[in-house]
Amino acid sequence: MKLRFWGVRGSINSPLSPENYLSKIKGVLEQAVKEGISEKTDLDHFIAQLPGELKTTFGGNTSCVTISDDRDLLIFDAGTGIRNLGSQLISGNFFNPEIDEYNLIFSHLHLDHINGLPFFTPVHFPGKKIRFFSHHENFEKMLMLQQNSDFFPVSLESRPSNKEFNVLKEGHDFSIGNFVVRSKKLNHPNSSYSYSVEKDGKKIVYATDAEYTANSVLDNYADFYRNADILIFDSQYNFNELAQRYSFGHSTAEIGVDAAVSANVKKLLLFHHNHESSDRKIIEMKNSSIKYLNEKHPGSDLDIIISNEGMEFNL
Ligand SMILES: [Zn+2]
Ligand SMILES: [Zn+2]
Repeated sequence: MKLRFWGVRGSINSPLSPENYLSKIKGVLEQAVKEGISEKTDLDHFIAQLPGELKTTFGGNTSCVTISDDRDLLIFDAGTGIRNLGSQLISGNFFNPEIDEYNLIFSHLHLDHINGLPFFTPVHFPGKKIRFFSHHENFEKMLMLQQNSDFFPVSLESRPSNKEFNVLKEGHDFSIGNFVVRSKKLNHPNSSYSYSVEKDGKKIVYATDAEYTANSVLDNYADFYRNADILIFDSQYNFNELAQRYSFGHSTAEIGVDAAVSANVKKLLLFHHNHESSDRKIIEMKNSSIKYLNEKHPGSDLDIIISNEGMEFNL
């Protein structure tokens, strides 16, 4: 199965500002002067060894992640990242172009998880079928409300795609093609839901928008996260921010480390980056979580990775 990230930010989309862009250019030029780069042929090697914050940007779109095989596409959340996914689906550059049915599964209905939907192009095509899934019983009404004429010029119900709305129950496993999907409620204002997706002995867990108020709470999730190849984890804040924003419903990379180690997870994907965090700050947060892993869980071979737009894993 293939995992791909289309939007990795939390709360609100946060494009790279002109100041951030210029500061990256300046950093690259300073590095080039220091290393005496004068030939074009040196560029690839030079770029490859640049520090992360100069070489990339993690992206400014909000939550959207896909898990797919040749036959089925599961989309988790419709943050602004879903706009690019929609374009790629229509152009046939992503997923099997012969299949016109997609599954869109919501963790919850906060704006950063739904407000890309009006721009998800397949909704506007008559031959497309979209199966919507959520644990929130009123979610069909809420999605329609988002496109009420007071908020958006085109209503969701007027769009010619075939739309099916399915309300999920926690603990009721379901299958989409060869994927087995399980869910578990997370501690978040108005509740968010995590999903575990399994196929051919591989397991990915999508667990965003969650606050763990104590280790004992974290323990409740160990079985659900157990042996995941990849755990996608809400690491919006560092410890200081978490202390100041208690009850906002988010977590830290270090809490992710404890969750991942206790559940024997292979890769921890830091996700739902704070919209106020620069690329450099996100890298610093990852580095501090590696330090924490080495001190608290010496010998652990947990892999900690920052999720970024366009990142893919094939399992
Ligand atoms: Zn969110
Ligand atoms: Zn939320």
